Amino acid sequence: MSFQNPVFIPGPTNMPEAIRKACDMPTIDHRSPLFGQILHPARAGVQEILKSETAEVFIFPSTGTGGWETALTNTLSAGDTVLAARNGMFSHRWIDMCQRHGLNVEIVETPWGHGLPADRYEEILAADKGHKIKAVLATHNETATGVKSDIAAVRRAMDAAGHPAMLFVDGVSSIGSMDFRFDEWGVDVAVTGSQKGFMLPAGLAIVGFSQRAVDATKTAGLPRTFFDINDMTKGYNANAFPYTPPVGLMNGLLLATETLLKEGLDNVFARHTRIASGIRAAIHAWDLELCAASPDLYSDTVSAIKTPEGFNATDIVSLAAEKYGVAFGTGLGEVAGKVFRIGHLGSMTDVMALSGIATAEMCMVDLGLDIKLGSGVAAAQEYYRGSISVPLKVVA
Ligand SMILES: *Cc1c(COP(=O)(O)O)cnc(C)c1O
Repeated sequence: MSFQNPVFIPGPTNMPEAIRKACDMPTIDHRSPLFGQILHPARAGVQEILKSETAEVFIFPSTGTGGWETALTNTLSAGDTVLAARNGMFSHRWIDMCQRHGLNVEIVETPWGHGLPADRYEEILAADKGHKIKAVLATHNETATGVKSDIAAVRRAMDAAGHPAMLFVDGVSSIGSMDFRFDEWGVDVAVTGSQKGFMLPAGLAIVGFSQRAVDATKTAGLPRTFFDINDMTKGYNANAFPYTPPVGLMNGLLLATETLLKEGLDNVFARHTRIASGIRAAIHAWDLELCAASPDLYSDTVSAIKTPEGFNATDIVSLAAEKYGVAFGTGLGEVAGKVFRIGHLGSMTDVMALSGIATAEMCMVDLGLDIKLGSGVAAAQEYYRGSISVPLKVVA
């Protein structure tokens, strides 16, 4: 156990000291202009990170899962049909939530390790002449498999089919770390949480609604109280929530958005790509493979690494925790025991990544895998020393 080592789980992520401190503040009146000075710029910061001019940003005391519930209950009615692919644990859990809310889910079973099948979406939507499908669900980054899907392609498929369904995107492990274009992709609801790209403790569901999605609340019949966006809007108009907001987390969110925007979104995304590329160079040097089926699907926030047949990948995660005090992610669902995951999003640097690669390497050698100590580290070092081209800007 160590409180000094960085974590390499794909959320909660490491917290920059300044952001952690911003969450620790004295009590203020949470229905006051003073709270408004935190609330409104934090929402505006999220909107900018979503790359939207118009999205209504709502923040609930919850987590990403509550963000999904916000998306569904504010826009849909029991018996409505939604279209979703299942290609990992998180898309699976979103489908499960839809079913528990009495929605009818048209499921496209997709192999884990593959991306969202935009071509199948197009066929299904084109065949839905009566427009029974009210929403298309898309998990931008499948955290279980380290697969990034092409949301622009999903939008193109919807447009090509001439289908009016809304587009809901789970961006929990992508927003704030990988490029996300709410307006350009025609997203109707984007969902994330505080503990991944925003580098905060868990505790906030962060969602963006298009005007169309806001309007859908007028006819949406699913019950909602805590997650009602119209109640939230009324609260915001009075510098408040409909209930007690987690003021410290909101203050942390404000600083997190400022920190990301000060680094510059392009620089944030380039940093994640560079760090991920170094980790992938290490994986290649180990002669191991990613769960993601092809390079266009490689996630810049999490790598799920396949271990040889007959080896329990979870042993790496257990040994890293027990012997070296370092946290990696286990395989979930269908890939449990078959992969281990390195999370490399949020407050992460090349140098931190090297320590994670070195630890994974020690564990694999300890457990008898045919891997040479230093091979992955050296490959990543070569990559990093050759790819850092901008002078370091200290932002947090
Ligand atoms: C973490 C995660 C979730 C769940 O978020 P919680 O904050 O744990 O509720 C949902 N989707 C994806 C893609 C995730 O990575």
